[in-house]
Amino acid sequence: MNIIVCAKQVIDISEMKVDPSTKKPILQGVPFKISDIDKNAMETAITIKEKNGGKITALTVSSDAKERIKELLAMGADEGIIVNPPDKYDYHVVSMLLAEAIKKIGEYDIVLCGEASIDMFSGQIGPRLAGILNIPQIAYAQSVNAEKDKVTCEKNMGDKAITTESTYPVLITVTKEINEPRLPSLMQILGAANKAINEWTADSLIKDIKPFVETIELKGVPMERKNIVYKDDIDESINQLVESLTKEGVLR
Ligand SMILES: Cc1cc2nc3c(=O)[nH]c(=O)nc-3n(C[C@H](O)[C@H](O)[C@H](O)COP(=O)(O)OP(=O)(O)OC[C@H]3O[C@@H](n4cnc5c(N)ncnc54)[C@H](O)[C@@H]3O)c2cc1C
Repeated sequence: MNIIVCAKQVIDISEMKVDPSTKKPILQGVPFKISDIDKNAMETAITIKEKNGGKITALTVSSDAKERIKELLAMGADEGIIVNPPDKYDYHVVSMLLAEAIKKIGEYDIVLCGEASIDMFSGQIGPRLAGILNIPQIAYAQSVNAEKDKVTCEKNMGDKAITTESTYPVLITVTKEINEPRLPSLMQILGAANKAINEWTADSLIKDIKPFVETIELKGVPMERKNIVYKDDIDESINQLVESLTKEGVLR
């Protein structure tokens, strides 16, 4: 079973601050990480491999992503591929580059993506990628059962659960609820140094690819805290809190 996990390197938005005067996000010094749900996709790939055997390739379109890809190799990926993007890119460019990289990798049975990235959260890349590769897709999987000839996924729609089945090759996007990504041991972290990471340029995959959409401005939305402190006795404070939350429309 050849599995490709598409993983995005993102800034850790929990560490990001917004400049109150310009409303621009302050990105300097903010650490990078693998988008959270892509680690769930990686964990899914590992459990599929544990059951069926095979190879896991971690694929990213990003610059300076070696350290992040090493995290996925430590978790259990066998190989990493980094595609260095052009200066300007959008959803079209990213999904086209991922598709070309996947075609270059060659044989594959399952492509795994997160349902959405934690920074841009468009949820476009998985479905676009399946469309470009012309393969079936199952989105928002919260369970994946891969067998020899077919894969069965379940998604929870709140009041109902939908079970979907597909043959291979297939693209699956997973939700955060699907599993708890494992933390690699020290031995696995050290072992990751011996695994291969290949770097490809965007141009070697598609010549002169250009984005359709350009980001004009990026503004943060500063969140104002109300700073209400309830100092009365505990029962009275709870009543006041419930009343305030109801007034704000948080509780009904
Ligand atoms: C410097 C910079 C400039 C940008 N400029 C523009 C612009 O001008 N116009 C514009 O429209 N957008 C721009 N973007 C945003 C960029 O197009 C999106 O981040 C990208 O297309 C992915 O979209 P998303 O994060 O919403 O992914 P989603 O669709 O929410 O991600 C779903 C899943 O797809 C996979 N995935 C997503 N991105 C990658 C990746 N890079 N590598 C591997 N797997 C991935 C992951 O599995 C992820 O969980 C820019 C981003 C950067 C960093």
